Amino acid sequence: PASPRPFPRATIGGCPVDVANFQESLAFLEANLRNENQVKVGCVNAAKVVAAQKDERLRQALEACELVLADGMAIVWAARALGIPLPQRIAGIDMMLALLENAQRRSYRVFLLGAQESVLRQTVEKIHKLYSGINIVGFQHGYYFPDELPTILEQINAARTQMLFVALGTPQKEIWIDEHAPQIQAGLIMGVGGSFDVIAGIRKRAPYW
Ligand code: UDP
Repeated sequence: PASPRPFPRATIGGCPVDVANFQESLAFLEANLRNENQVKVGCVNAAKVVAAQKDERLRQALEACELVLADGMAIVWAARALGIPLPQRIAGIDMMLALLENAQRRSYRVFLLGAQESVLRQTVEKIHKLYSGINIVGFQHGYYFPDELPTILEQINAARTQMLFVALGTPQKEIWIDEHAPQIQAGLIMGVGGSFDVIAGIRKRAPYW
């Protein structure tokens, strides 16, 4: 089990969001990685709040994450309107990049799951360029057949993965993480949606505003 969250959890449009800034969130993830506790990380933006209102399974999967980031500005605006002291937006991709930097520094074993095969290959190449010496212990595209899943889970564990990034659509990735986390030994499992596409350079990230 993960260490207790040092920050409160708010509810916005029925979705959980943790009231924490970037550095606190990163420090929480780091501490749990060092202690080998498992933390599942989810991201919430306006589209996901709407999706979760119609999809209880998605809402539950987010609730089960030990850390839920306010990934969209609309969440920050909604928090302000509701008087919730949410300090800032934390884009999932920024957290992923910060974690990769830590992985490079501390030699954490990283596994990437998701995106199209060619995109994933470009993502891996780009990450090697950005964080030279980083230990990517495995990668698997996100268009596998269901009967391949047991082998994929075995690969993740056999590689002694410490950080697993899951780039699938919504609600696929949230439900995937919720369902399979108990079978995975990684200390950090983070759902990142289109971030691999952004890192590979085939999709632009959302504008700052
Ligand atoms: N994806 C995948 N397998 C699938 C469906 C989607 O690997 O069966 C990948 C897709 O290629 C893309 C990511 O999942 O890289 C979805 O990104 P999106 O921005 O749609 O995620 P969301 O914003 O819904 O979290």
